[in-house]
Amino acid sequence: MRLNILIVPGDGIGAEVTAAAVEVLQSAARRFGHELLLSEGLIGGAAIQKTGSPLPAETLEKAMKAGATLLGAVGAPEFDSLPPEKRPEKGLLGIRKALQVYANLRPVKMWPALIGSSPLKSEIVAGTDLVIVRELTGGLYYGQPRGLDGDRATNTMSYTRGEIERVARKAFELARGRRKRVTSVDKSNVLENSQLWRKVVSEVSRDYPEVELDHLLVDTCAMQLVLNPRRFDVIVTENMFGDILSDEAAVLAGSIGMLPSASLGDGRGFYEPVHGSAPDIAGRNKANPFGAIGSAAAMLEYSFGLAKEARAIEDAMGRVLASGIATADLNPARAATTSEVAKAVCEALAGAGAAA
Ligand code: NAD
Repeated sequence: MRLNILIVPGDGIGAEVTAAAVEVLQSAARRFGHELLLSEGLIGGAAIQKTGSPLPAETLEKAMKAGATLLGAVGAPEFDSLPPEKRPEKGLLGIRKALQVYANLRPVKMWPALIGSSPLKSEIVAGTDLVIVRELTGGLYYGQPRGLDGDRATNTMSYTRGEIERVARKAFELARGRRKRVTSVDKSNVLENSQLWRKVVSEVSRDYPEVELDHLLVDTCAMQLVLNPRRFDVIVTENMFGDILSDEAAVLAGSIGMLPSASLGDGRGFYEPVHGSAPDIAGRNKANPFGAIGSAAAMLEYSFGLAKEARAIEDAMGRVLASGIATADLNPARAATTSEVAKAVCEALAGAGAAA
């Protein structure tokens, strides 16, 4: 199969982790007999420096032509004082919006080899395997009116029935292939927005009778995630709640560097690790590439229908972790570099039996 993929490394460790993911994609393509057609684009601070814009038109054009896009990370300290519309993050929000990827899937899985790396007790995190489905193109991050006016600042949280319905359907469809449980998270005791959210998700659930639905307030969910993470299968929630809860859930997995994400709409997919550009370790070959590699595996599965190839990459990741090869965030005493981890995953992948 021909896989037409756009790589947008972005800023900081973005370049290092996407390079690692590309190596693994190449190795998977070799093993399973696929042809990779890779192109590269600018985004974020790197794009501002070269073109003046955090999302050049050329990058968007390439993204529209590709079957899927893999992003590293955006954000750099030198832009931190700029207003939101001039910051690197604007490029990320822009490309997500342009691709109409309204559902962000963030799987959080406790790899057995990493159980000791979680700050929570092993008996609490063991067996955690959940996916947060975050609404990605609406809510507080996009709502109008917004603005800073002297000593008053305004942001608006706004959702329509259609926006809630389509992301809820993604969550129920995902749950159907998993443990068949959806938890919808809102703040319906305070926000009208959440009251509509709860009503629409409940209505959508009638089309999925085999999936059990429960509702949690976002504060209760934040607590349950660290008290009893195994209770969750698929969590569906609006943009800002999902942003915060998924970083909280990241702690369960031992390091934010472990977490992949897939952003899906009705067309092209957009894939990125959950972490940011990590300026504190950028350019030092220290970044954990598993989030990016896991995102590449998700891309093969969701954008190209290559589930077998995705499982092979995840198996290779599991074997590398079990062998103790990991970057400093997980294994400070005997830290491997980003490129050493990538090489180990490629070797595990290549040695993992004959091409099917
Ligand atoms: P961050 O995720 O970049 O870093 C938080 C901490 O986790 C840092 O100590 C960092 O070293 C560590 N870390 C992150 N990824 C790691 C990895 N793969 N391996 C090892 N350690 C890792 O978050 P931050 O420091 O809050 O933000 C830094 C910049 O990134 C900011 O400009 C922010 O706006 C941006 N950001 C971008 C995204 C994105 O591109 N999706 C997400 C979050 C933050």
